[in-house]
Amino acid sequence: MQSEHADLLAGYRARMSSAASQEVLRSIEREAFDKGGTIAGMLAKVPSLEPSERAGAGRAANELKRALEADFAAARERLAQAALERERSGGDFDATLPAPKARRGSLHPLTQVQRELEDLFTSMGYEVLDGPEIELERNNFDALNIAKDHPARDAMDTFWVKTPPGQERLVLRTHTSPVQVRAMAHLKPPFRAIAPGKVFRQETTDASHEHTFHQMEGLVVGEGISVGNLIGTMQTLLQGIFGRAIEVRLRPGYFPFVEPGFELDARCPFCKQGCSVCKRSTWIELLPCGLVHPRVLEAGGIDIERYSGFAFGLGLSRLVMMRHGIEDVRHLLAGDLRFLEQF
Ligand SMILES: [Zn+2]
Repeated sequence: MQSEHADLLAGYRARMSSAASQEVLRSIEREAFDKGGTIAGMLAKVPSLEPSERAGAGRAANELKRALEADFAAARERLAQAALERERSGGDFDATLPAPKARRGSLHPLTQVQRELEDLFTSMGYEVLDGPEIELERNNFDALNIAKDHPARDAMDTFWVKTPPGQERLVLRTHTSPVQVRAMAHLKPPFRAIAPGKVFRQETTDASHEHTFHQMEGLVVGEGISVGNLIGTMQTLLQGIFGRAIEVRLRPGYFPFVEPGFELDARCPFCKQGCSVCKRSTWIELLPCGLVHPRVLEAGGIDIERYSGFAFGLGLSRLVMMRHGIEDVRHLLAGDLRFLEQF
């Protein structure tokens, strides 16, 4: 190798050994091997040399190229080993720095209220029941004493599920009441149960109507169950939700599955003289309730000579809206994080 080449090689080796990173090493390597770089320059000069010198010059350039290639490979390996050593010994990692904060989610306001109510009712000896969201027509309507020609069965109000002819018809349950029917088939009286869940109505949606919303059904069956038990339970419920005693009143209401049936109103928890929540009346329509209709008990195989019961249907979505002052029911299921992050 000519002395000019030996100097070049020594120069490259010095720079390789002082390179502190793979990036620096790569830039030196490009200088040697790229088009227009050191080696390419040497080979380009070969054709212009005297014919007697060409073979020797070409060979020398190639020797230098191979030597540099071997040296660069060794330098790359050395830097990789050094990086590995640094990592093993802790290197740049500082264990005393605080970890990056994970973003925590929160429970949906509906879930929060549902869980609170479940805790409250469980503490009063209730079981929490679940039922299917696709329900037999029989459980959703017939067993609840809802007549065949009742407008609630209309396709304008109810989502019917396509079922083959001859098979029992299915609906997206329009209330959580069918869980009453299922409960009576499985539980031996006396029993107390609540059934929270989603229900579905064929609605034109607006600020107070949504096709999917949440209810919580309550059912108590036992000996000597009366309207007094119902009122006491509702007062406890409201006390639990609003943290203080709230006056209630019953108005007669008609629902096919209760007799007598009532609308339970609660004294508006937000005002004394009337506000937008109570539409200036100081009373809020809270839930339909009543003593379970004997026909419904009988359909559930319960001895009506011995047992009676009460039932109520609490609008969970409505309650959540009341508690948080939410003005549009559609916010609840829209999945908008700007809304949900507030809870
Ligand atoms: Zn009010």
